[in-house]
Amino acid sequence: MQLANFINNQYLAPLSGQYLPVFEPATGRMYAQVPDSGAEDVALAVSAAKAAFPAWSATSQQERCAVLLRIATEIEHRMAELIAAESRDTGKPLWLAGKMDIPRAAENFRFFATAIAQFSNETHETNPTVLNYTLRQPIGVVGCISPWNLPLYLFSWKIAPALAAGNTVVAKPSEITPVTAWLLADICHTVGLPPGVLNIVHGLGPSVGAAMSEHPQIKAISFTGSTRTGAEIARVAAPLFKKLSLEMGGKNPNIIFADCQYENMLETTLRSSFTNQGQICLCGSRILVERPLYERFREDFTARTAALKVGPPTDADTKVGAVVSRTHLDKIRSYIQLAREEGGTILCGGEQVALSGEYAGGWYVAPTVIEGLSPEARCNQEEIFGPVVSIAPFDTEAEALLLANSTDYGLSATVWTENLSRAHRFARGLEAGIVWVNTWLLRDLRTPFGGVKHSGVGREGGWEALRFFTEAKNVCIQY
Ligand code: NAD
Repeated sequence: MQLANFINNQYLAPLSGQYLPVFEPATGRMYAQVPDSGAEDVALAVSAAKAAFPAWSATSQQERCAVLLRIATEIEHRMAELIAAESRDTGKPLWLAGKMDIPRAAENFRFFATAIAQFSNETHETNPTVLNYTLRQPIGVVGCISPWNLPLYLFSWKIAPALAAGNTVVAKPSEITPVTAWLLADICHTVGLPPGVLNIVHGLGPSVGAAMSEHPQIKAISFTGSTRTGAEIARVAAPLFKKLSLEMGGKNPNIIFADCQYENMLETTLRSSFTNQGQICLCGSRILVERPLYERFREDFTARTAALKVGPPTDADTKVGAVVSRTHLDKIRSYIQLAREEGGTILCGGEQVALSGEYAGGWYVAPTVIEGLSPEARCNQEEIFGPVVSIAPFDTEAEALLLANSTDYGLSATVWTENLSRAHRFARGLEAGIVWVNTWLLRDLRTPFGGVKHSGVGREGGWEALRFFTEAKNVCIQY
């Protein structure tokens, strides 16, 4: 399978003629090739997007709503194909791609299709003869750069509001998981998205992504990925005065009080630790447990973790599939080794898992629980982004809050308690963009989504996304 760039509704080979291998994590085998594009391909895409902007930005909200709804419906028509592609590209269980990734991609388009129809502007009557109103106008050509962990889900989470607001888009999916973005190009073409409105350029971050950050005609960049890459994009794009939305890494605390609903907490904590092999920016990787509950939790959680089936993504009972790449497998294993050196005890997991037959070359890691790490340990401070969590007891609320806030990251946090006052106190005190109380990953697409500290700048979701992808203009009239 050889993928192509999608520029001006044409499927183009990269101008360099070079391709990169795409691997199937479940088997470790190469199965596709993706364009190794460069700055010239980005320039072509920007020209197409620039040419398409006047007509697209002049369409009515109803017209854009209609096109986006058709994209959502077409994603649903091609659901099975997209689910299989996402699972194969990422190594995630097929059932998970079917339950989470692809339905959410359709929902993203449907949500912003209808959101734009309800996006309204403010007026301020200064006095009886002066009226101010705000126009929120599309920016122009915008760039969307997304990671490999939730490929179509996050790609569409950016593209949908950008298009809905009337911008034209140059988008770059992760080179590690490009297939569903390539299928999305076909979907947009099929439903009649005009040429140049969405352009997808494949390739490496330091070539395609960097060329997007540097391009003077790309007026805004919406990025999701690691904090290191976010910093690099900001370094390049900020002096060019681009608008920036940066969604980055996390090291999220999961704070469990002894008064919680135990079974619900245990079940959800297994999910928040290991869903998608722990490769969700919102996974809780630092589990803090109030001391009276600690021993019971430690025993039950370790036993339940050890019982999770690590297996081929296509098996219906697989709970933990393959991690995304050989490089990522090595990174996870090196952190587990580091945890041992930092004085941690591996309560379960800790090893690569070797499957048999055609999956023998796949990249599998046993879900791993570590105890005994100090809060300052690198394994408690740095994002591992795999099926690896640490557990630790705490004695007081003050201590729990201090530990929860003790990293540079601040994406999400989860609190388990039946004490209403405490829940509110923690929601206020936690340094995080999202706080879940007695639940996890329950998302309402109208809410602001993003992080604080090194986890993010700006917010996605709902009106926040539409505001990011528009420029506000104040019009003041005296009459
Ligand atoms: P990454 O930063 O390596 O890559 C993300 C994207 O940026 C890819 O498309 C990549 O090609 C591109 N890129 C790389 N170098 C670039 C450069 N110099 N200029 C421009 N673009 C460049 O991240 P990843 O490994 O793909 O994804 C995992 C990371 O994403 C984790 O840190 C995770 O926490 C984070 N993430 C955050 C959120 C969130 O909403 N906050 C969601 C999902 C993932």
